Amino acid sequence: MVQSFYMKYPHALVIGNWKLNPGTNTEAKNLFTAVRKAIPKDTEAKVVIAPPFLFIPELAKAKSKNTLLGAQDVAFEERGALTGEIGPAMLASFGVEYVIIGHSERRAMGETDQQVNKKIVASLKRKLVPVVCIGEKRRDTQGQFYNEIATQIKALSEGLTPLQLLKVVIAYEPIWAIGTGATATAEDVKEMQLFIVSTLTKLFDRKTAEKIRLIYGGSVKESNAQDLYQNGGMSGFLVGGASLQAGEFAAIIKATKRG
Ligand code: PEP
Repeated sequence: MVQSFYMKYPHALVIGNWKLNPGTNTEAKNLFTAVRKAIPKDTEAKVVIAPPFLFIPELAKAKSKNTLLGAQDVAFEERGALTGEIGPAMLASFGVEYVIIGHSERRAMGETDQQVNKKIVASLKRKLVPVVCIGEKRRDTQGQFYNEIATQIKALSEGLTPLQLLKVVIAYEPIWAIGTGATATAEDVKEMQLFIVSTLTKLFDRKTAEKIRLIYGGSVKESNAQDLYQNGGMSGFLVGGASLQAGEFAAIIKATKRG
C-alpha cells in the first residue's frame, strides 16, 4: 500500500502555516525571502507558505515555482454578508493555490464539520487545493480516538465525488501534538495512515482512498522529520512553529529527500 502511495506522490508536500505571524509586512517579506533562499536548490518537494491573509498580495509578487502560496482559511461563499471573511475567488485572484481548512485552532473557535465540508466544495470550484485538517484531541488506550477521526473523515467528504476527493489533501494533526513539542511517533502516524485509507475505502473505494495525499502535522522539526517522513507512511508535512525559522524549515524540507 505504501509503495503505491509513494508512486503517486514521489515528492513531498511541505506547508508552512505561519498562523498569526510575523507582526509586520516587512517582517513577512523578509521571512519569505529567507525561506526561499534556505530551501535546498535541488529539492523536489512542493513547498507552500500560508501567511496571514494581509501579507498575501505582497508575497504573491515573490512566490516562485518552488515556493507556492497558501491561505490559512477561506469563506464557504464567494461573496455576500459575511463580515471579515475572504472568499475563494479572492484568494485565487492573488495566485493562492492551497488553502488550509478546518485547522484545530479554527475548529476551537467554533468551526463545524459542516462548514469544513462547505469550504472544501467552495475551494474546489476555484481550483484551490483544500488541505483539510483532522485529528483527535487526545489518545485513549482503548483506541476510541479512531472514532473521532472516522467522524471527521465522513463529514469532510460528505457529498464529494471520488474525483473531487482526489483533489483534497488530508492533514492528520493530532491536537495534542500541535505547538506542544509532543510529536506522534512514526508508528502512530503509520497506523493512522492505514486507518484513514481504510475509512476512505469504506466511504469511496480502495483505488480512490489510496491515492489521496496524506500529510502529517504536529511539532514537526528538524530532529524528527526524517523518521516521520520515512516511516510514517505520509507524503509531507504541515508545519507550524518551525516554519517561522527559515533554517529549521529548510531542514525539514531536506528530510523529505528520498535517498
Ligand atoms: C499547525 O499549526 O498546523 C502545526 C502543526 O503547528 P506546530 O508545527 O507548531 O505543532
